[in-house]
Amino acid sequence: MPNPLQDVVVIGAGIIGAAIAYELSRYELSITLLEREVEAGFGTSKANSGIIHGGHHTDTETLKGRLEWWGNQLWDPLCEELGFGFARVGELTIALTESDLGSLDHLIDNAEEKDIADVEMWSREQICAAEPQVTRGVIAGVFSPHTAVVNPYEAVFGLVEAAVANAVQFHPNSPVTGLDYSGDTWTVTTPTATLRSRFVINSAGLGAAAIAKIAGVDGFEIRGRKGEEYLLDKRLRHLVRHVIYPCPTPVSKGTLVIPTYDGTIMVGPTAEAVDDLNDTTTTTSGESKVFAEARRLVPSLSERDIIAQFAGTRATIEGDDFMIGPTEAPGFINVAGIQSPGLTAAPAIARYVADILHRNGLEMTDRSHLNRIERPVHFASLTTDAQRDLAAHDRRYRRIVCRCEFVTEGEVCDAIARGATTIDGLKFRTRAGMGRCQGGFCATNCLELLSSELGIKLSDVTKRGPGSWLVLDRPDGTTPGVSAQDPS
Ligand SMILES: Cc1cc2nc3c(=O)[nH]c(=O)nc-3n(C[C@H](O)[C@H](O)[C@H](O)COP(=O)(O)OP(=O)(O)OC[C@H]3O[C@@H](n4cnc5c(N)ncnc54)[C@H](O)[C@@H]3O)c2cc1C
Repeated sequence: MPNPLQDVVVIGAGIIGAAIAYELSRYELSITLLEREVEAGFGTSKANSGIIHGGHHTDTETLKGRLEWWGNQLWDPLCEELGFGFARVGELTIALTESDLGSLDHLIDNAEEKDIADVEMWSREQICAAEPQVTRGVIAGVFSPHTAVVNPYEAVFGLVEAAVANAVQFHPNSPVTGLDYSGDTWTVTTPTATLRSRFVINSAGLGAAAIAKIAGVDGFEIRGRKGEEYLLDKRLRHLVRHVIYPCPTPVSKGTLVIPTYDGTIMVGPTAEAVDDLNDTTTTTSGESKVFAEARRLVPSLSERDIIAQFAGTRATIEGDDFMIGPTEAPGFINVAGIQSPGLTAAPAIARYVADILHRNGLEMTDRSHLNRIERPVHFASLTTDAQRDLAAHDRRYRRIVCRCEFVTEGEVCDAIARGATTIDGLKFRTRAGMGRCQGGFCATNCLELLSSELGIKLSDVTKRGPGSWLVLDRPDGTTPGVSAQDPS
């Protein structure tokens, strides 16, 4: 039997596709979200700085400049609805030379033009008092209270989960391979399904040009701009309280010092043009560059404190702006070139796309009731009494799976029930493996829990999908056990 006609198929479950699916789930629509990876958020959305930018870094003439500030304001209600980690820590952009001062004036002008209140020029003394670790060589800076930090992957998972709770069909492991239009309907093909839909949203990130090509839409090219990031030991918590920005360059906001939502300090990113869109390597030259630049802002930073490093690639297009809108193919909408500040702008992009759909004939009736999702337990941040209560009711909260981040078996099992199928999926949902030992202790525990909860062999558990197995079957086909530490 052919699949029923969908109103909208959204391609790509990064922060953009997830935000669009969630926004559309507020209406009486049939929606399918397709993702080629084994879990949502495994593209650029898991590998960024996690900053909700203040809105004053981009000019008003660009689409990204308009959507950045709008998006910034939408994160509070979104966080309230979905309950992921989000904190308005504020930012300081600092000038180190007289020639930097023009950039600071420009940021203040942008803020005034966009009507962003409370963005102020700060003196050297104000900056040194607020951030004692910032270089004494600072001359002046721009302060904004609006800049925030977020757990980007938690946000993607929350959006997808809430969308699914409100009737969106989510299919991971579903790379779109065919798109054909006839008789007012798109036929969308993946290796395992054929769907029919009135509208198709191309939010495939680095894959957006390939998707547009499959749909026969006039070509554009995605150019990769890689960014390397370095996470430092938690003992440096509170080294800085605000996100510290240098004065921006024409292609990037520069290397930042970021107090992440989880309490680590992160430095980065680089901005390097790459031909290979799948290049997520970190390099010694990238590390040297990041630390040389970051030390100009905060001199005490050291490479010796690195506990993890990663890279993500920004999907840029010619003109360096977002490309969002209908195309010459009826019902096919591009949401492409979503480089930085795509994370910040995501909730605004979702509303902007919903409006485009409406203007292009999609009837949108509010759903009478929106289902809310329950916020996952974060055991480490509960009070001792609350931890005791939980552990008394459910034994799984008595067993610590990840010692560095104090993650319990209960949280890991809950994450699996919510859709985690890989070691990385667990790590991004629960922080198991994100601490100082980087999974040295908990990887085997997580492996066994994934195997038992999903009812699959140990050798079928992967780090992040096919090709990343952790345990191999013996030549005779049997699966070895793992010598996991007893988590009790
Ligand atoms: C190093 C770095 C730091 C950054 N820091 C910030 C920041 O601090 N603040 C900020 O606002 N922005 C930041 N950004 C930008 C931000 O991360 C991106 O704008 C955002 O993640 C883009 O989301 P997306 O959903 O478009 O892309 P993605 O997250 O890549 O999602 C696209 C999805 O489409 C899927 N897909 C591709 N092809 C297909 C197919 N054929 N079929 C099905 N699915 C497909 C992919 O697997 C992927 O999951 C940063 C980017 C980088 C690289």
